[in-house]
Amino acid sequence: MRANLSRARAAMPGAKVWAVVKADAYGHGLLNAMRGLAFADGLSLVELDRAVQLREAGWRKPLMMMEGMFDPADLDTMAGLALQPVVHNDEQLAMLASFAGPALDVHLKINTGMNRLGFRPERLHEVFGRLRGMRAVRTIALLTHFANADNPQSAPSAELQWQRLREQCAGLDAEISLSNSAALLHQPAIRCDWVRPGVMLYGGSPGGGTAASFGLRAAMTLQSRLISVQALQAGDSVGYGSVFTADRPMRIGIVACGYADGYPRHAPTGTPVLVDGVRTRLLGRVSMDMLAVDLTPAPGAAVGTPVVLWGDGLPIDEVAEAAGTISYELMCAIAPRVRREVRGDLSIMAAATGHA
Ligand SMILES: *Cc1c(COP(=O)(O)O)cnc(C)c1O
Repeated sequence: MRANLSRARAAMPGAKVWAVVKADAYGHGLLNAMRGLAFADGLSLVELDRAVQLREAGWRKPLMMMEGMFDPADLDTMAGLALQPVVHNDEQLAMLASFAGPALDVHLKINTGMNRLGFRPERLHEVFGRLRGMRAVRTIALLTHFANADNPQSAPSAELQWQRLREQCAGLDAEISLSNSAALLHQPAIRCDWVRPGVMLYGGSPGGGTAASFGLRAAMTLQSRLISVQALQAGDSVGYGSVFTADRPMRIGIVACGYADGYPRHAPTGTPVLVDGVRTRLLGRVSMDMLAVDLTPAPGAAVGTPVVLWGDGLPIDEVAEAAGTISYELMCAIAPRVRREVRGDLSIMAAATGHA
């Protein structure tokens, strides 16, 4: 994570970094990410209870709440812990207008083409003015989010979205946060005060190239081992539905990992798996606790042989693509029963957050 954060910084020198840690830091564990990303300028997430946890764990730098408050009561917590909410709709404006607690730093979200959250660009000046008039508001920053930063063929382009924002914010004294991972890696012309990388910090590609080609390193390795080896005859099939049938005698291995661990059930035969460091393929249907692999390329494999499902030596993006999804979804889906082992220099991490 630390190396990938440096990579994100290098993509836009001088910009400050909101490291995005929503969804339990994309499945990596929020407090692990707090340490791994300790040199970020701020952390950005959506879950209020998790922001409280970050403060309790000693994170003193800024925290941005990317969906803002859901209820008026959220403002008490946010003001008390100096959390910085995004304000993206009129309901939230009304909550802020009637909030009597301490003032907050807020982020005004402009919808420049994603059409999920935010005020249309024509309303920027009006809403900015209203926020400036509220006693519950201390500073106002601006943000927008790009829909197609990884793909120049899709409209609206990141350039066009950026332009829509710039047209409206001329003359306003406000910091702007823009680039997600895709924009950082594909849109070198876009400049802003703060960037908001997520998946690249964890070593996933946001699209348009491999993680390795972007100089990113896997933060997560999902590993297990073989718990059974079977010798199939031609005509034997494996697993539920018997969707894979051997056309010749072959050895297969059974790996202790299934969809209840977060491995995608819809990964088909052929999805890459590493057995003892050797690349092979998934066979048949993934079950709840197990999956089957072809041991033809790893004749020495036996019960106990280590298996990597993704991570070190096997890019998560390749597994995601085989399964018809994206690395983001695989990372987030790691199940609670999977045993976590954290590696890294915890003393450096502690030094950077100021806490052991
Ligand atoms: C999730 C998210 C990001 C990070 O996106 P990545 O593609 O993971 O880099 C940035 N900004 C907002 C508003 C987000 O929701």
